[in-house]
Amino acid sequence: MSDISECVDPQAVPSGTGCVECLAAGLWWFHLRRCAKCGHIGCCDTSPNQHATAHFRETGHFIITSFEPGEDWFWNYRTAKPLYGPRLRPRGRGLWTRLAPDQRGVSPRTRKITSMSKQPFCDPARSK
Ligand SMILES: [Zn+2]
Ligand SMILES: [Zn+2]
Repeated sequence: MSDISECVDPQAVPSGTGCVECLAAGLWWFHLRRCAKCGHIGCCDTSPNQHATAHFRETGHFIITSFEPGEDWFWNYRTAKPLYGPRLRPRGRGLWTRLAPDQRGVSPRTRKITSMSKQPFCDPARSK
């Protein structure tokens, strides 16, 4: 069984427009990651709470993809390498863009940092 057939479900519906745990706790994040298996949306490893990685540790769902607009890369936690994944169910861009910035959990300060960053990734391999 390939990693993709094991841990990617193109029909999984995204859990929402923001990090599930951060929204529940009223926290903020930098970037969003989407679990390719179940659609869980979690925050990236440069966010304070790193819920995407926490989701992988809890569930063993080891392939994530970016949930940022215009990004379609995948990441495999097991191999710690990027991979090419299939096209997933649309992320619901319309719903996303209707949300005000603070409803996305991004504070004015982090938004400034995000827009200045040239790095498309913020994943474990990059921070080594
Ligand atoms: Zn989070
Ligand atoms: Zn998952």
